[in-house]
Amino acid sequence: MRYERSSALFAEAQKYIPGGVNSPVRAFKAVGGEPIFIKGAKGAYLYDEDGHQYIDYISSWGPLLFGHAHEPVIKAVVEKAKKGTSFGIPTEIETELAKLAVKMVPNIDKIRFVNSGTEACMSAVRLARGYTGKDKIIKFAGCYHGHSDAFLIQAGSGAVTFGSPNSPGVTQGTAKDTLLANYNDLDGVRALVKANQGKIAAIIIEPVAGNMGCIIPTKEFIHGLRELCTQEGILLLFDEVMTGFRLAKGGAQEVLGIDADIVMFGKVIGGGLPVGAFAARAEIMAHLAPEGPVYQAGTLSGNPLAMAAGLAMLTEIDKQPEVFESITKKTEHLHNGIAKVLTEKGIVHQINRFGSMVSVHFCEDPVVDFASSAKGNNDTFKKYFHGMLDQGIYLPPSAFESYFLNDAISYDDLDRTVAAVKNTF
Ligand SMILES: *Cc1c(COP(=O)(O)O)cnc(C)c1O
Repeated sequence: MRYERSSALFAEAQKYIPGGVNSPVRAFKAVGGEPIFIKGAKGAYLYDEDGHQYIDYISSWGPLLFGHAHEPVIKAVVEKAKKGTSFGIPTEIETELAKLAVKMVPNIDKIRFVNSGTEACMSAVRLARGYTGKDKIIKFAGCYHGHSDAFLIQAGSGAVTFGSPNSPGVTQGTAKDTLLANYNDLDGVRALVKANQGKIAAIIIEPVAGNMGCIIPTKEFIHGLRELCTQEGILLLFDEVMTGFRLAKGGAQEVLGIDADIVMFGKVIGGGLPVGAFAARAEIMAHLAPEGPVYQAGTLSGNPLAMAAGLAMLTEIDKQPEVFESITKKTEHLHNGIAKVLTEKGIVHQINRFGSMVSVHFCEDPVVDFASSAKGNNDTFKKYFHGMLDQGIYLPPSAFESYFLNDAISYDDLDRTVAAVKNTF
């Protein structure tokens, strides 16, 4: 059997871990079948426990911009580990990473490190509420901001993959403070703001959405949000956990030419180790403990190994910013290749792409928000996913996730991928 060892490992995992996984999308529920177990990875390639090689299009869901086991990152972590793994006492490297991030990202003066994107978004909303003295937030259907209670209202990513965008366990009390709008619908947001005048602390958004496929904001929409927030004294929160240090040095703020009020990071900023962060102008960050009254803390926050990986990653990016152009061109090459094959085969599809984020949707109409993304044909998607997997191409195991390319992927890999699409259909 092709996946014998993975299958045995999955059976064993299910005895001790709910669903056999520590994050739901990994379980392959949306595509059927069983997950592969990974033994190791290098550059563009994953190797599973049964000895198969895969070209990896998820890059650990974003962090690995240069590919797996990138030498400078591995070296930094190994060297750091020899000097101790955690102290709970300040270290110099936290300031080094903070300084570099503040230099690279527009419009932020200070940054606080946490351990995940979830923590970053949760803490950013608390800060926004503490700063404005207001309770309500607006989020967009299909956007994912981690799994904390306030965001599990029509959430994207795994939440929607598993049909539970509104999770049991989230209280009515929490849910009532999260107002829901549709992506790319500025009038809808205006109406919500009007109906809740003076009560809204923040609008939180993925400035380029990546958790309902890749969805691009219209200029009018994203600039309109900025104007509206400024007029109404609402903070604009950019969740750049996915886009930060992936679309550009300065993330979506730089690419879209918009200043957000608080920006959240994760994924790339940790170089493959668990790091999240949120950042803002000094005046806003001054409200955070111990400088201000809004409490936020973490035993392992600013952990030296995580900081070493993050610093090595951002240093690489800072030294070779051409990585963004390179990876964007590769993504474009893939986009064009797949589009050509699907068109030739007469398969109804839409492909959305922004920088090194891309998603393939098996539907008729343009995908501009959650409702249009949800119209994709899941049977075609399953066939596509498994057809590619069997040919050594690892795609996100859900139609609601974007692909994340890494720069270790070669043009030869891309052409092999396009050939695999042709074989699949
Ligand atoms: C991945 C992601 C998160 C959550 O980050 P975790 O590290 O998984 O907690 C939040 N927001 C966005 C946009 C993400 O893509």
